[in-house]
Amino acid sequence: MAGIYIHIPFCKSKCSYCDFTSFPDKLCYAESYMACVYREMAMREKELSNYIFDTVYIGGGTPSVIDEKYIAMLIAAVKKHFKLADNSEITIEINPGTVSAGKIALYEKCGINRYSVGLQTAVDGQLADIGRVHNLKDYLNCAKLLKGKNFSADVMIGLKNQNIADIEYTISVAAKSGASHISMYALTPEDGTPVYTDYLNGELPDGDEVAEMYAAGVKKLASFGFERYEVSNFCKKGMESRHNLNYWRRGEYIGFGVAASSCINDTRVTNTFDLDEYFKCILSGHFAVINSEKIDKRGQEEEFIMLALRTSEGLNLKRYAELFGEDFSVKYSRQIKKVQEYVEVNEISFKIKSRFLFVQNSIIVEFFNAV
Ligand code: SF4
Repeated sequence: MAGIYIHIPFCKSKCSYCDFTSFPDKLCYAESYMACVYREMAMREKELSNYIFDTVYIGGGTPSVIDEKYIAMLIAAVKKHFKLADNSEITIEINPGTVSAGKIALYEKCGINRYSVGLQTAVDGQLADIGRVHNLKDYLNCAKLLKGKNFSADVMIGLKNQNIADIEYTISVAAKSGASHISMYALTPEDGTPVYTDYLNGELPDGDEVAEMYAAGVKKLASFGFERYEVSNFCKKGMESRHNLNYWRRGEYIGFGVAASSCINDTRVTNTFDLDEYFKCILSGHFAVINSEKIDKRGQEEEFIMLALRTSEGLNLKRYAELFGEDFSVKYSRQIKKVQEYVEVNEISFKIKSRFLFVQNSIIVEFFNAV
């Protein structure tokens, strides 16, 4: 099984930490953009005719900012051009303040069965500070519209003037509002974003403070019954994001739209980040690809290790042997010994101990340049 990702690059305004491919001033191009996305799908139909997809993820940007009829047409185009498994997970990212009962009803009607909601923080002053267009009231209204449905809420840590009590409060709001999945991400101050200036001015919590926030967040999440299944992702039993699990298991996926990337048959393909160029390519019948790279065996192995060690299930030893023809515990015995206090090994898997997942990068690095 494989996944489909569709990038909708429009937003109401630009958040102060955002370096995603999103355009706050180009909503007027939504109709033409979506027509190009449908066309790009048609162009890939033949090549992917042997694939069965079981997840679809509509991300952005803010997919919920465009007219819902384009989302309905998008799902119809997916179903027309590709084989979707009966029980497919179909997720859409939505921002509080850009949804209505009518919008959710149409999403539901066309088969969307999972929602990812950008709460970020339940503290209005912090939402305003990071340039979000919604406030807590908007989030609560949105959660009300999603009552009884499968939805995830995003929570950010490491914001300016944020403390542990704010994070615990935000998690309580998300959990009590009915979310069955919570993603808790640390803010990354990217060069070129307004937040980067705060970072340079020393106004953001430092690494140790963020680590404390994360630990407190994990504890709070556990108190509401959310189990961690990946370093930043927590859910109620059985409510994992299947789309993201496919990424972390190094499954195949195809991406459509500006800035979308794909990994099919061990070839990573990235579309242009430039909206005009995307239009020009697709309208002239060409793929909008700016980079295509065949991943060699060593690259595949490094990705497999890195992605698997982000997850609570860890690296499946049998799967590793099937893919790479070697015994992981033998090949990496020296590295495993070096990190042994941070990891757990049994006959089935090799994984980072739960309490060290937040610093997984410093453990994973041992396995790179190792051979
Ligand atoms: S809503 Fe998301 S994609 Fe849009 S500007 Fe904010 S962070 Fe970026």
